[in-house]
Amino acid sequence: MSKSLQAIRGMNDILPDQSPLWRYFEGTVAGLLDTYGYRQIRTPIVEFTELFKRSIGEVTDIVEKEMYTFEDRNGDSLTLRPEGTAACVRAVLEHGISGGGQVQKLWYVGPMFRHERPQKGRYRQFHQIGLEVFNLEGPDIDAELIVLTWRLWGLLGIRDAVKLELNSLGTSEARARYRDALVEFLTQHIAVLDEDSQRRLKTNPLRVLDTKHPETQAILVDAPKLADYLDEESRVHFEGLKARLDAVGIPYVINPKLVRGLDYYSKTVFEWVTDKLGAQGTVCAGGRYDGLVEQMGGKPTPGVGFAMGIERLILMLETLGKVPESIARQVDVYLCAFGEAAELAGLALAERLRDELPTLRLQINAGAGSFKSQFKKADKSGALFALILGDDEMAARQVGVKPLRGQGEQQNIAWDALAEHLATCAVQA
Ligand code: ATP
Ligand code: MG
Repeated sequence: MSKSLQAIRGMNDILPDQSPLWRYFEGTVAGLLDTYGYRQIRTPIVEFTELFKRSIGEVTDIVEKEMYTFEDRNGDSLTLRPEGTAACVRAVLEHGISGGGQVQKLWYVGPMFRHERPQKGRYRQFHQIGLEVFNLEGPDIDAELIVLTWRLWGLLGIRDAVKLELNSLGTSEARARYRDALVEFLTQHIAVLDEDSQRRLKTNPLRVLDTKHPETQAILVDAPKLADYLDEESRVHFEGLKARLDAVGIPYVINPKLVRGLDYYSKTVFEWVTDKLGAQGTVCAGGRYDGLVEQMGGKPTPGVGFAMGIERLILMLETLGKVPESIARQVDVYLCAFGEAAELAGLALAERLRDELPTLRLQINAGAGSFKSQFKKADKSGALFALILGDDEMAARQVGVKPLRGQGEQQNIAWDALAEHLATCAVQA
């Protein structure tokens, strides 16, 4: 027997039962971002490999071991995007829309690809919604990004389940000074560091700070603190951010070990974390990247952004029972017609209803069938009402409106009055 065809490990189908929740989530975010003045950008999911190497950094987990890289038929090295910031910066530069200090407040949504070990909340194709802001350098915009995510958690009903962690990485000069001090300190203890940290000490020493190894963590207790190396400008920026979060009443904790995986951050970094998802606890993460645009060949351009993992947030909504009732039902009324003449009249009537009630979710029974089988399908559809059109109803130019969920008797309603009737009982506000 031939091997059955399967999706690639770590890449998931989102089945019809699941997609209403995805649309609810994405729709909620999109609506919110409209109100804050963010505009969507859509970039290709494949880019030249060089783009990610230059932006994310050669010695990061993503570029070292997680990218889906291949050669296309021209011999160009291409990569499925592992994140969204690089492409945004490329697009903004390519089209000149951040030149002359033009402010851009952008967002994107879509699949990202990383070759990681698949597990709950960690996949090889996963989805992010991300925001990027160009040409605003103050803490006010860092605060806005956090404030709007806080509002999002409120809309989704998960505020109590997430916690904001903040840190400042300083300017790249301050970080370089700190890096030297950290390397000097860690080198004295190199023998007791775990293998990963020994390697990172050479390639990307700040990442040693987010080690999971208890022995290395114990050593780090006495390590130099990044906060002590912060330059004045970054310190003032960080205070400005904290003051704004305090003004809105958003709780946060300062996590001095928060360094983020990517090279390009400076000043503010933040993560929204939860303890409801086990090991994969970060649902949203980002920070400021003032040096990135220049590093990618543009003029110096301040930038700040974040990305949230849609799968993890959907898992949270499910785990916490925050899936709204209203998205469970996908059909309002189900039209059953018996006989050829009723089917034709039913189709015409259905189209009239759609004209008059554009948001009515109306399903017409397809494939004919007996009374019993059509009612069964009507019930299974989850509809609130079955609309019945048989010989008697045809003769009286009426429709039987049979409640399928609550109590109540079947009513016969004239064709001309049907839209008005359904507007009061079947169409969602
Ligand atoms: P992690 O530490 O969990 O690997 P990260 O620092 O690599 O996360 P980012 O690059 O900051 O993640 O991506 C932003 C968000 O995207 C994460 O906080 C997470 O919610 C989500 N995310 C990242 N990688 C994955 C993945 N492989 N599967 C599902 N979601 C992911
Ligand atoms: Mg990762």
